[in-house]
Amino acid sequence: MKGLYFDGQWQEPAINDQIDVENPFSREIIASVAATHEEDVNKAVASAKSALSNWKNTPLPERIELVKKLTLRLEKRREDFAAIIRDELGCGKDMAMNIQFLSYIKAMFTYMEEAKKLNLAEKNDSYTVYKEPYGVVACLTPWNYPFGQIIQKIIPAVIMGNTVVLKPSQKTPLVAIELFKEIDQVGFPPGVLNLTTGRGSEVGNILATHPDVRMVTFTGSTSGGKEIAKLAADSVKRVILELGGKSAAVILDEADLNLAARRVLFTVCSNVGQTCSAQTRVLYPRKLEDKVIKAFQRQAKDFSFATPDNHDTRVGILASQKQTERVWGYVNQAIDQGAELAIGQKPAEQEGYYTELMVLKNVSNRDKIAQEEVFGPVIVMIPYDSEQEALAMANDSIYGLSGAVFGPPDQALEFAKQMETGQIFINDSSGSGAPFGGYKQSGYGREGGKYGLLEFVQLKTVFTP
Ligand code: NAD
Repeated sequence: MKGLYFDGQWQEPAINDQIDVENPFSREIIASVAATHEEDVNKAVASAKSALSNWKNTPLPERIELVKKLTLRLEKRREDFAAIIRDELGCGKDMAMNIQFLSYIKAMFTYMEEAKKLNLAEKNDSYTVYKEPYGVVACLTPWNYPFGQIIQKIIPAVIMGNTVVLKPSQKTPLVAIELFKEIDQVGFPPGVLNLTTGRGSEVGNILATHPDVRMVTFTGSTSGGKEIAKLAADSVKRVILELGGKSAAVILDEADLNLAARRVLFTVCSNVGQTCSAQTRVLYPRKLEDKVIKAFQRQAKDFSFATPDNHDTRVGILASQKQTERVWGYVNQAIDQGAELAIGQKPAEQEGYYTELMVLKNVSNRDKIAQEEVFGPVIVMIPYDSEQEALAMANDSIYGLSGAVFGPPDQALEFAKQMETGQIFINDSSGSGAPFGGYKQSGYGREGGKYGLLEFVQLKTVFTP
């Protein structure tokens, strides 16, 4: 039963407590991991603290070299990692390999390349600005991209000279443990990277309040993020929050409707809607209603049901009982209040966490299902009568994570500039390497490339006579 790694070694937790990990597809318990407690977490933080001074003084090229060694080892073991992700998340094979694993290996290379270009000591006439690490960084990650969300935190953190204590989601800790088996082989100095599996309410809280932790980077629900920010405030820690979303895709008058439907469906179906940046609110001209709905119905046929073993990895199995109840709860309530299904069927009690795509019309932007994050393959279709109204509705959300505008490129760009969100696609739905993060209650801070690296440094100005 692994889950605790510090001082460069696997450790026995102080208390024998464990968390079971379920395969959402078979619904079998496939492993148990350590539920660590305060004593273990304190030791992991102490380990990170003791490694700090050495690590931050290790030249950047040497730090990058170790990350490169790790990346190459991971890449070689791609089949193993994809299988673990598939089993603990219940997603399809290709999804696990391409989107959940390989795209983050690419992100690791990008971090390394961008780090080489950074100027860590910027000289001015009378002073120099140094970029320095914060110190011990606590990384708290969710289950929906169990490998990727870890990479987006621990890699830029250690490249920039911080040391890390990682607390992965209790639902998907296996990929984190496998990652630490590789970290263990690479030759990082003991204490640079530490792992404590466990429950958010306990391990997460200890890390967020620990006096020796200088920074917390959290990806998860907005409610969890608010809690972390409050806990971290007492010791004035640097906090990064990557939170939920309810992103709008706006279809303009002259948009290519098939393209719009296809791109939106891709964002929603790819991880069974369990993606923070999924475009789950579609705003379209009322006069085009029939054509828009037909385009979605036509394109939805290509997003067929997937199981973990087939290659077509679209809509399929939600990650847990809790998720299934949540998604069905939202949809049933919306239908009871007058929403109609343009695609999909009313959820019925059944075995397993199978959930098909559901596209709802007759929904208002103020309805609960249009305002809250469902985190399943559910899209709400909302008509508008003017672009002004479309913009007001797009921005009428507590969230601001992602979004898209479909239409003539220049017009779409002008519209996009007025949307209150951290990332927008024009006539598209995916891209990598660019900064990613939220406006409003979707959080603050950015991940990816140069901007992701810069989140992990503070500036020191030294005046020289
Ligand atoms: P969650 O908030 O339940 O948990 C996230 C992590 O924080 C877990 O490791 C959990 O154990 C820990 N945690 C939870 N509550 C805590 C608390 N009060 N104190 C300390 N630690 C705590 O989120 P989840 O269900 O794992 O993930 C789904 C959510 O993550 C969705 O809302 C999704 O939108 C969001 N998400 C955001 C991004 C992004 O980049 N913005 C990416 C992926 C997921």
